[in-house]
Formats: sequence, C-alpha cells, structure tokens
Amino acid sequence: MHTIIEPFRIKMTEPIHLTTAEERVEKLAAAHNNVFLLDADDVIIDLLTDSGTGAMSTKQWAALMMGDESYAGSKSWKNFRNTVHNITGMKHIFPTHQGRAAESLLALTRVKPGHVIPNNSHFDTTRANLEFAGALALNLLPEDALDPAKELPFKGNMDIGKLEQVIEQYGVEHIPFCMITVTNNTGGGQPVSMENIRQVKAVLSRHKIPLVIDACRFAENAYFIREREPGYKGKPLLEIAQELFSYADAATMSLKKDGLANIGGFFVCQNDEWAEDFKNALILREGFPTYGGLAGRDLEVTAVGLMEALEYDYQVYRHATVEYLIQKLIAAGIPVMRPGGGHAVFLDAKAFLPHIPPLQYPGISLVNALYLEGGIRAVELGTVMFGKYDENGQEQPSPLELVRLAFPRRVYTQSHFDYLYEIILQVWEKRDQLKGYTITKQPQFLRHFSCWFENM
Ligand SMILES: *Cc1c(COP(=O)(O)O)cnc(C)c1O
Repeated sequence: MHTIIEPFRIKMTEPIHLTTAEERVEKLAAAHNNVFLLDADDVIIDLLTDSGTGAMSTKQWAALMMGDESYAGSKSWKNFRNTVHNITGMKHIFPTHQGRAAESLLALTRVKPGHVIPNNSHFDTTRANLEFAGALALNLLPEDALDPAKELPFKGNMDIGKLEQVIEQYGVEHIPFCMITVTNNTGGGQPVSMENIRQVKAVLSRHKIPLVIDACRFAENAYFIREREPGYKGKPLLEIAQELFSYADAATMSLKKDGLANIGGFFVCQNDEWAEDFKNALILREGFPTYGGLAGRDLEVTAVGLMEALEYDYQVYRHATVEYLIQKLIAAGIPVMRPGGGHAVFLDAKAFLPHIPPLQYPGISLVNALYLEGGIRAVELGTVMFGKYDENGQEQPSPLELVRLAFPRRVYTQSHFDYLYEIILQVWEKRDQLKGYTITKQPQFLRHFSCWFENM
C-alpha cells in the first residue's frame, strides 16, 4: 500500500504563531484554565471543532467571485438549488445561515409541547431547539454503541426495537417526525448504515411518521457505507448519498461540515404544507427564500463544496487522517473511543487519568495538559459539558469522560498529525502527575463555554 497523500497542493498559507511553554502557562492562567477563553492566535493546532473551520479550494474561491448578490432569484441561488436538488432529490429547498437556523424553524413550524422526537443521537443544538419548542428529544442508540472500546462498523445505527417501543409508548399522534443524524456527531462521528436507514424508514412508513435526516456529515457517512456495507463497493458517493436521501421526507444541514464552507445551512423537504410553513417562518427570521440569510457568494461556495465533499479521493484522505492518528494511539496503548469516527478522534479521559475522580473533571485536566504541552486545543465532552445537578444540588457526573480532537477539513498536514501524536504521547508519559480541577465561577446554562477552573 502506498502512502495516502493529501489530494491537494497548498497555494496560500496562514501562519501559525508558535508559542513557548512559558507563554502557554501564562495564557492558560489568563483564560482561567478554560481553553474556550484563549485567543485563537495563542493556539498551535486548533482541534476545537470541524465546524466552519475548513479550507476552501481554488474552485470555491473562484466561485465566490461569481456570487450574484441580487435579493431575489439570483444566479447563485439557482446553482445552489440545482446542486442540493441533485444530491437530495427534494422538491423544496431553503438556504439558512447555519444548521441550527434550519432546526429552529423546523421546530417552530412542526413541533408542539408534548411532542416526542426520536433520533439516534440529537446534536446539542437540535436537542435545545426541540426542547425549547416543548418536545421530548430521545436518543435511541443500541447499548453496544455506548461502549467506547467496542469495534462496530455502524455504531451510529438507531435501535429499531427502541424505536418501535417509543412509538407504542407515546403514540403516533405525538411524534410529528423522527430524525436520524449522519454521521452521529455526539456519539463519536460514527456512521449509520443504509440498511438501518431502510429499516427505520419501514417502521416509520407503517405509522405514517416522516423521517428527517440531520445531514451535516452525509458525505463522510456515504464514504463509510461504500467501504463497510455489502453492495456499495466502488459506487460513486453521489449515488450513495442520493439513495440515503431517497428514504427521507426532509433534511436539515449545517454547510459548515460537509458543505466545506465557513458558513451556511439548509432545510429541504418533499411536503408542500411543510414547505409553505417553513417559507413563511424563513422570511420572518432569516431572509427571502432564495437567499435565506446567506450572501450570494456563500451560496456559490457551498454549491461547489457539497460536490467536493463527495469526491472519493477527498474522503479517502479525510478518513486516512483519522486512522493515521488513532492507529498510532492504539499501538501506544493510549485509550481512545473505537473505531475512529468520521471527523474526530476521542481520547477516553476516564481511562487516561483513572486517579482523577469525575467531579474533578479528568477531561479538563487532559485538555489543559495538551495545551500546556504543545499548544493543542481540544474540547471536553464529559462532566463539565453534560453533568447535571440533582434535586439536592449534588453534581452528577456524565457516564463518559471524553476529549474530542476534531479535524478541520483540508487544513492540517501529516507533520501536524505527527506533532499531535508526540504531544499526546508526552502527556501520556506524565499522566500520573496531572491533577484535577474545581470550578470557581459558572453561568447557569452551557457552562463549558465560559466557566473558570482552578487546579487542585
Ligand atoms: C453542527 C451540527 C449542527 C448545527 O449546525 P450549526 O451550523 O453549527 O448551527 C446540527 N447537527 C449536527 C449533527 C451538527 O454536527
């Protein structure tokens, strides 16, 4: 096997400010030990998120100059509509400024208090929008998928038994639609198989419940289907994506992921009544239906980006970056979530730092150690993000303590990944010296973004 190379050359560079270890001690202290409060310029490799952080191609930059900024019916809108229609086959297409705008308008127009919305796993903005509309947002992953060490090809699949049980328990009249998220972001970027989507669709059809796909990483999911599912070997990713959307009645998407753009989103659907309601809400909150809160140039850029995300060589390379890092970590005995997902590697902080109890935030300890050691910015997905307080005011830990290293698209090269591995290894070698943290100040909601920590 030959080395899998980046299928692009670099025409423009963006300098990285290489901080020293002493500087990082100072910067982290000034950020109250919360990496969200660091200046991006003080980070060497930024793996906080893969959302909107990708690099655009020459074709995308050229398309940007072709942006038609007409208020209504622009040429850029037509390019966008034709591309999204080609991939999804949907009758009604609406741009939005981000994925969460599509979710919020879907919730506003279709969800009422008392409704129940099942999903393999809701992303946090999806859950927040549905709960804000008064619905119950349920995650229906099989038990197997909750074990970080278990190797399964389609760990994002929905549990069909649980879906049938939810429909029986709550009643069809309380379920305006069911969602499925490809790939399953909160569950580790794990893919969903075509067979599972077909099974979900079959159950829903019997009950006349529409299926809405959260399609943020549909192209990465199509790649996994091609590589892992019988019957899809050698198939163009576009055809796989077209089949995937053929089972859906509607979809929401953040174009900051597989749109390979820095901003954008969409909502698409087949149903005329859904479209009419969505359009009216869109005009009120986002913009006229042919731009939906985006500039014409953004529509051009995402039309190109969506097709580039479906290029097989791009996906081979994308997947190779995840595998390259995860296989080195596994070989060194460093605990990670398995198998590798589509857009990130997850370190298991509970197994990495067993001497730090969950309420002393092992994930934060690991995140901060990665920054101090090598200027790497990761994110904790553990007790700080998901922990809850019970009725007696006692803090309850999250079942998993993960640290996510999310990979921006087409941004870092192999030497960056080699460096990343070295830094993780150095932290691993001194893991016994790492200490836990306490929170000294926190807001009421979404505390992980802004709370202050102190070393114990
Ligand atoms: C990012 C994301 C969203 C929200 O999209 P934004 O563009 O950030 O508003 C929704 N669902 C999933 C699965 C995501 O990854």
